[in-house]
Amino acid sequence: MTITVTVIPGDGIGPDIVDSTVRILNQAGCGFRYEYADAGLTALEKHGELLPHSTLEAIKRNPVTLKGPLTTPVGEGFTSVNVSLRQQFKLYANVRPVISFKGTQARYDNVDILTVRENTEGMYSGIGQTVSDDGLEAEAVSRITRAGAERIVRFAYDLARREGRKKVTAVHKANILKSTSGLFLQVAREIAEQYPEIESNEMIVDAACMRLVMHPQEFDVIVTTNLFGDIISDLCAGLVGGLGMAPGANIGKDCAIFEAVHGSAPDIAGKNLANPSSVILASVQMLEYLGRHQEAQRIVDALAKVIAEGEHTTRDLGGTHGTTEFTEAVIAEL
Ligand code: NAD
Repeated sequence: MTITVTVIPGDGIGPDIVDSTVRILNQAGCGFRYEYADAGLTALEKHGELLPHSTLEAIKRNPVTLKGPLTTPVGEGFTSVNVSLRQQFKLYANVRPVISFKGTQARYDNVDILTVRENTEGMYSGIGQTVSDDGLEAEAVSRITRAGAERIVRFAYDLARREGRKKVTAVHKANILKSTSGLFLQVAREIAEQYPEIESNEMIVDAACMRLVMHPQEFDVIVTTNLFGDIISDLCAGLVGGLGMAPGANIGKDCAIFEAVHGSAPDIAGKNLANPSSVILASVQMLEYLGRHQEAQRIVDALAKVIAEGEHTTRDLGGTHGTTEFTEAVIAEL
């Protein structure tokens, strides 16, 4: 059966790197049908709203969505489209893998870390955000539920089991944030007991950041709450060559959206300078999610070869080439 993928090209560098990825998926013989939809600044210009109803319907209708980065206009009344999508579709798991590719200018060459970030609760739940009338005090509520913590920790362990990974580290700040992070840690310990074949570890977030920078090879799967996961996953991207190499999946019960970790990069938009690897790797996550492991591996191998050879890579990877040349080189390896 032919699968239809909802494709949201996005803003800034989005359309170029999403187009690269669609060309690569086609060359790899994936045989997808694509339904294009608008969101973000492009949608605001075309339809007068950031997240049109037709886009929501397309995401709902098709099993998977491939999404370019979206610009969130600065100013009152504009909520982040990304946060809206995660909340509306209950995409509770944000899975952000980073892997060392030979040929990047990264400090390490043997990093393979999967950050599983809770995507709907914690500091980003949007509850109780107030600033006092005199502007002297501001408040926001961080909310962690037992159900939410159980769901994400179980998700991380199941993923570790499926991928044959050895260790899960729960990252927290339960020594200070005794209620919220405390509940998360308690749940993580309980769930860990149900997976005796996987090594379980726990680490306070500040210590985890230091160890990630000094000894990233010690980490395998990280499971953590929303804010810590957001920060740690960018730190991890920095360990393997930067944001151009970092994909992310937003997964819920009925729906999944695959995207780059980075934003629309307005500083390089329209200049043919963007590294498309982030969205290419997001499409690899999408293929894995669909159980199409061979196609996923073929694309990773082609990408790895082009990066290792270094003759057609983009500036962020130390090369001198543009998005188009990089994409052509990957296509030639498929
Ligand atoms: P950004 O991630 O767009 O860019 C940060 C830096 O990384 C820039 O110097 C950029 O040139 C570089 N960069 C990013 N992706 C690259 C790539 N593929 N190849 C080479 N270099 C790359 O962050 P920003 O400039 O702070 O944000 C721009 C907009 O994106 C904002 O409106 C923000 O809200 C939005 N944003 C969207 C998402 C998303 O859609 N998931 C995520 C983060 C930010």
